[in-house]
Amino acid sequence: MKRFRIGARVDDERLYFEVRLYDTDEEMRAAYRRTTFFLPEQDDDTTCGRVCPVRNVNGERSRIGFIFLSRNYCGTRVVSHEMIHAALEFYRSLKGCSANFGKRCSPKEELLADIYEVLFTKMTRKLHALGVWA
Ligand SMILES: [Zn+2]
Repeated sequence: MKRFRIGARVDDERLYFEVRLYDTDEEMRAAYRRTTFFLPEQDDDTTCGRVCPVRNVNGERSRIGFIFLSRNYCGTRVVSHEMIHAALEFYRSLKGCSANFGKRCSPKEELLADIYEVLFTKMTRKLHALGVWA
C-alpha cells in the first residue's frame, strides 16, 4: 500500500486528502471495512474506490479526508469519478460553500471545476510517478 497526499490551495486555505493506494481491490475493500468510515449499507464487492471525508475537530482543518483506491481499478473512469467526489468534498469544506450548483453554470460551478482540475492533475501525475499509469 502506498500513501500520498493530493490537495489544492483555494482562498488561502490549503486542504488535502490522504490517498491510500492498494495493490488489489480486495485489499482496498478490506482496509476500508476496518475504518470508522465504513457504512455497511454502501458496501459491496463492486466498490472500486472510496472518498471518506473527515470532519475535523480541535481546529485542525487541513486534512479533509481519505481516498481509497486499488491498482486494479485505477483507470481514468474510476479515478475521475473519485476525483469529482473529492472535489465536491473539498468545495463543501470551504467557508460559506455548500454543494448546490443550480441549473446553469455559475462562478460556484467554475470554482468546483478549478478544484477538480487541480486534484485530477495531481492524481494523474502521482499515478504516473508510481508506475500505475504508464
Ligand atoms: Zn461515486
